[in-house]
Amino acid sequence: MAYSPKILKEAEAHLEKIRKEKIQESETRKKILYQRFKRAAEIDMLLSKTAICAAKSVLEGANAKEELLKLKKSNFSLQKELNDILNSAGLPLDYLEIKYNCSYCNDTGYINGKICNCLKKTIKQLAYEKLNKLSPLSLSTFESFNLSYYPRELTSNGIEPRAKMEKIFKFCKDYAYNFSKDSKNLFMQGATGLGKTHLSLAIASTVIDIGYNVIYTSTPSIISKLEKERFNHINSEDNSENHLIECDLLILDDLGTEFQTSFSNATVYNIINTRIMYRRPTIISTNLSAKEIQNSYSQRLVSRIMGNYIRLYFLGHDIRQNYIK
Ligand SMILES: [Zn+2]
Repeated sequence: MAYSPKILKEAEAHLEKIRKEKIQESETRKKILYQRFKRAAEIDMLLSKTAICAAKSVLEGANAKEELLKLKKSNFSLQKELNDILNSAGLPLDYLEIKYNCSYCNDTGYINGKICNCLKKTIKQLAYEKLNKLSPLSLSTFESFNLSYYPRELTSNGIEPRAKMEKIFKFCKDYAYNFSKDSKNLFMQGATGLGKTHLSLAIASTVIDIGYNVIYTSTPSIISKLEKERFNHINSEDNSENHLIECDLLILDDLGTEFQTSFSNATVYNIINTRIMYRRPTIISTNLSAKEIQNSYSQRLVSRIMGNYIRLYFLGHDIRQNYIK
């Protein structure tokens, strides 16, 4: 399957920018060295001159093998002199080399016309960034989560919301900082405004920071996006549904607020079920009660979730009302 031309172009441009930066960095290093050691600049000039001379002689009919041997000999002594200069300056021998991010393709994105893994990775990252664009990832952190909004008064079931939320908070924080591809699935349940979105966003940004691919999305917005893609017959490798299935951590916020159709239910099931099969961690949050979930979704989806997710019940008053006070 092919990538969409738009995202491929963007990814190529991204790599090209990195490539130019790396070349520029090496030019700057060169400049600094040549200012300190005039001889290094001379050697550089001589090295490129001898290469040009050899190429010229071959073109003019000289024996290629002989010329190459001569070139190697003269280059060897020049290179040695340059290494001595680098040594005396306390610099590594590869100081002047261009340090590309990807040594396989030198940040060109292609090896013998074939797409390099680094370009594939860039395409994915760009797609994830696009999907995450609408989420306020940077606004909700563990540090800004305020436990004092949760009451200490016991509920009718004898549970103290503050203590319960302290446990959930600690659990989520540990989950985020210790995230791995083997992490469990989480099902966050509770009324609106109890901090589910805040904590799932905090998990998302922490897990992104430690280097995993995360997609955070609200269920209604992703369903309408997938519907549009299907309507427009977008079937390339970088369609959103594939990214939702492939990312290291998927966070589906607000399950149950999407406009429910047979398409939405089938899509939600497919994403959740496929990720369970591939053992890829998913976090779902919902305002629905257990009964409402049973009424809204098929039995097979409910049993997949119940059997494969750790459930976290959020308790307390709507903390957003506290902000307004
Ligand atoms: Zn590469």
